[in-house]
Parts: sequence; C-alpha cells; structure tokens
Amino acid sequence: MASSAYREVTDTDLDRVWRPFTQHSVRDIPPTFVEGHGCIVTDAEGNEYLDSMSGLCCVNVGYGQERVIEAATAQLRQLAFTSPGHPAPVTYEFAEKLVDVLPGNLNHVMFVTSGSEANELAIKIARQYARQKFPGQKRSKIIGRYLNYHGWTFGANSASGQLQRKVPYEPFLPGFLHVRPPEMYRLFAGMAPSDVARELARELEHVIELEGPETVAAFIGEPIVAGGGIIVPPDEYWPLMRQICDKYGILMIYDEVVTGFGRTGKMFASEHWGAVPDVIAMGKGISSGYVPLGAVAVTDEVFDAFLGDSDDNVHVAQVSTFGGHPVACAAALASLTLIEDLGLVANAAAMGGRFLEGLRSLQDRHAVVGDARGKGLLCGLELVDPHTNEPMPVAQVDELVKEGHRRGVVLHRISAIAPGRESIFILGPPLVISAAEIDRLLEVLDDVLGAAAS
Ligand code: PLP
Repeated sequence: MASSAYREVTDTDLDRVWRPFTQHSVRDIPPTFVEGHGCIVTDAEGNEYLDSMSGLCCVNVGYGQERVIEAATAQLRQLAFTSPGHPAPVTYEFAEKLVDVLPGNLNHVMFVTSGSEANELAIKIARQYARQKFPGQKRSKIIGRYLNYHGWTFGANSASGQLQRKVPYEPFLPGFLHVRPPEMYRLFAGMAPSDVARELARELEHVIELEGPETVAAFIGEPIVAGGGIIVPPDEYWPLMRQICDKYGILMIYDEVVTGFGRTGKMFASEHWGAVPDVIAMGKGISSGYVPLGAVAVTDEVFDAFLGDSDDNVHVAQVSTFGGHPVACAAALASLTLIEDLGLVANAAAMGGRFLEGLRSLQDRHAVVGDARGKGLLCGLELVDPHTNEPMPVAQVDELVKEGHRRGVVLHRISAIAPGRESIFILGPPLVISAAEIDRLLEVLDDVLGAAAS
C-alpha cells in the first residue's frame, strides 16, 4: 500500500516537469500515481483508482505482472544492451513470436522505441520501397486521414490529421495529403455505413488519380481511430481501401500502435475485416508499456524489394540506437506470452461486449451522452449538450474527469484534436479487466454522468 513514503509534490515540481497538454499557469494537480496492480493504480496518498485508460492505452496485461518484471530484470542482469546490428537472442525470439501472431505474410520486423518512430520508419520504408520497386517513377506522397494520429515526430505528425497538434509546429513536411475518415457520428451523420465506405473509396481514388498514381507511395491510417475520437469504420471500408491500394501499387500502412496486441478483441485490428496491410506500425501494448518499444512489420513482398548486393545500397539506411533494446524485447516477449496464456484477446472481446452494452444503456439513460461506440476494449462516450447536440464544453467534461477521480476511476478526455471534437471520454482499460471491474466502471460513469445533469 502506498503511503507517506512518497514526498509531496511541491509547487516547484509542477513547473520542473513540463507536462504535455498542460497549461502550467493553471495549478490543477492531477493524481500522482505510485503503484499499480492489475487494473488498479494507487496515488501517493494511498487512494486507489480503476484505470480506464491503461496509462495511455498501453498497459495491456495490467500493472505489476511478475512474469514481465522478471523477464526484463533477468535480461538487464545478463546483458543490458546490444547494438541493433547485433541483436540479442531475445530479440530474435520475440520477432519469431510476433510474426506468429501477425496476420498474413507480415514476416519481417524492424524495431524502434515508440509508436511515433514506428510510423516514421513505416513512411520511410514506403518511400524507399516505392523507389526500388518502381524505378523511374516519383512515388513519394503519403496519403493520411484527418483526425488520425501517428505520432509527434515530424514525419508521423505530417501524416496525422489533428489540427491542434499541428498548427503550432507548421509548416510540416511536403508530400503529405489527407482524406476524410469514416467518422459516422458527425461527419457522415445519417448516412448508411456502406454508402460512407463507398464514398470514401471514391474520394481516395480521386485523390490518387488527380495527384498521379506514379507519385503516391502509401496510404496510412489507424484501422480504428483511437485518440481522434474512437472511429470504428463500416465493415466494407478497409477491404475497399485495400482494393484501391492494390489497383495503384500503393502500400497500405496500418498504424496499430493502439489497436494491436488484443485491444479491440483480435490480436490485431486488421483481423476484423480480412484486409491485411503491407506494413503494420506497432508500439504501446507491444511491451504493455513496461519498457518503451515500437516495431514495424512488413510483408515478404516489401522485404524482398530491399534485397540485393551489398553495394546496391537497397538496404534500410537508418538506425535507432535503442531500437529492439534487449530489455524491451524481453518484456515484450513476456507480455505477448501472457496475452496468450491468460486468453486476454478473448477477454478483451468478451469484456468489450459487456462494456459497450453498458455504455449504450448509459446513453439511453443520460441525455448528455450523444453516442457510445467502440470495439473490444477501445470505447468512447461522446458528450453533448442535450438541447443542441453540440459538443459538451470541454471545461464541463474536465469537471467530469475530476468527478471520476473523486469516485475512484481514472477517466480521460481526448484532447488537442480539433475544435468540437474533444468532448469524448476515451475508455481503454487493461485487457485483464474482470466483469466486476467493468460493472464498477459503468457504475462510476453512471454517477459521473448523473452529476453532469445536476
Ligand atoms: N499512433 C497512434 C494511433 C497513437 O495513438 C500514438 C500515441 O498516442 C502514436 C502513434 C505515437 O506513439 P508514441 O507516443 O509511443 O510515440
């Protein structure tokens, strides 16, 4: 149990550690978490909270899993570092296991240290692949989607489509275009899902045709958008996008940084629609957040385009010092083994179903809930002004987040997306969550939403 063993956070501390998405002139002190077990985190005063967001959608196996801790500790003792050019045995072992659970023939993995870097690398791989596969063409453009997020580094951020995370840092890199995502609640309100899928397929095709297919390298998207608003696509959407990418020789990149490793009730979200991408970017749940790790997996076809003689210079000419760090790979191997041994993908599907049903009944009971949506354990509640259906003011949503804290649940509002798109709770608890914990989460949400009405 946490106790006074932890010193109090002082006023100086609050400015010393410069936090993202935080206005430091406002002295709003978030809980300081010091311990975690399963789905529960404990603050410095000993108060317990159910973590509805797995940290930042990453602690898939839950906190305090001894097998992950032991594996990382043993690797630290044995060999704390090896250069990515000389991977440690554990790196090979983890890659082997990863390839076993990846869909299709995504049989080759390069490691990095974060989700941003994974997308950065995916974009570079797509460009180099295009140059080597189609010599003489100028395939470099990357088509991303509005509201998607791929990371804070310049390439990944250029591919992203969340204006508030971009405007202060413009200009971004040239050669990045964006199309609309299948956001059904506001953008395509009232339209049939299959019509939206067809309209967006036409949109992608128009952009490719009008830009010139021989200038486009890749299309990138989160298969289910997470932080941009929990956007679950119509079933027809990704298979149609796959067909278009195939028609024009364009690589399809899935950013599975959030959706990977069981989060949506399948090991990878790609499995929901049978539209396997050419490249998958991974992070977060890959190591359940115990040690930073990211990875990119590519198909045999993509990998083969990088084979040649040593002096052909067709290999990847990039390196990340800590990419595939042996301690991270040891943690990731233990985490993935645990996901399998504990049946966490099936649990995410079952608990996700129970959760979504509960969220929909909250929508029926609380007029401030405009929409409840999600897949597996990646869900969202969109909060509105019941009289106008306009988004609930973010200051009011923030009060509800605090109400959640007071009632023992860590809640998150999505932030820094675009005006009118931030009044959404993102809910992604650890995949070890039990039925009792799901019910408790729903009870607290019920109370919190009740407080919104009063
Ligand atoms: N891709 C998605 C879908 C994300 O949600 C995030 C982070 O939230 C990233 C990429 C970037 O990952 P990281 O913060 O580990 O760099």
